[in-house]
Amino acid sequence: MARRKKIYEGKAKILYEGPEPGTIVQYFKDDATAFNAEKKDVIDGKGVLNNRLSEFFMNGLAQIGVPTHFIRRLNMREQLVRSCEIVPLEVIVRNYAAGTMSKRLGIAEGTQLPRPIVEYCYKDDSLGDPLVTEEHIAAFGWASQQDMEDILSLALRVNDFLSGVMLAVGIRLVDFKIEIGRVYDGDYQRLIIADEISPDSCRLWDIETGQKLDKDVFRRDLGSLTDAYSEVARRLGVLPQSNVAKPTLIN
Ligand code: C5P
Repeated sequence: MARRKKIYEGKAKILYEGPEPGTIVQYFKDDATAFNAEKKDVIDGKGVLNNRLSEFFMNGLAQIGVPTHFIRRLNMREQLVRSCEIVPLEVIVRNYAAGTMSKRLGIAEGTQLPRPIVEYCYKDDSLGDPLVTEEHIAAFGWASQQDMEDILSLALRVNDFLSGVMLAVGIRLVDFKIEIGRVYDGDYQRLIIADEISPDSCRLWDIETGQKLDKDVFRRDLGSLTDAYSEVARRLGVLPQSNVAKPTLIN
């Protein structure tokens, strides 16, 4: 069988050329990294869970009319996505203070913010993805004024959707990060949600107990990451009951 062409290998995913022009196969690895890859491990089953969870969130977004790169899941670890040009920004939406915001501004973790706060970081691992302002984004041409309006509106729609879905299963959406892709339809360009939406890129706390069900479990050594992600998947009905404890691993 012909070997697929690898386009890019990141910390948690590998991208391969897709079967048709304009498509990409996104493969979810079990690798977990934190603090710009200073902390690393392989967590059995994480890729399988994130593939399923990202499919679930992207499908839900499509159903409410938020465009995403997701086309379909191919198998346990791979999904077919639309190829797009990634806007070099990490778009972070926060509903409660946590993580770098708490550290930077001295606000206790868990403090509810008066309204969702959207932050932008410049995507560059060698710089540690620094926080930037819209002034930087405009001056360096990373996105236009129109793009920024569209990105803000997409980010807030994703926030409303994800907050509601999580609230329904007793989970608080503290914050999350999304990436935005640019696609071209003839002379027009459109922005879509790209990359992944999973507990790797969100902070999710149990509403009753405050238990962390996201990548902070790995960052802060709080227990089993797959147990935490499986709990999210179980509550959302994404994994059948029998698969909850140990997802079946294929390749
Ligand atoms: O670390 P910080 O508090 O800035 O992270 C905010 C949110 O964005 C968290 O949910 C975190 O998981 C996510 N994030 C991410 N990838 C990064 C930086 C942050 O998914 N490179």
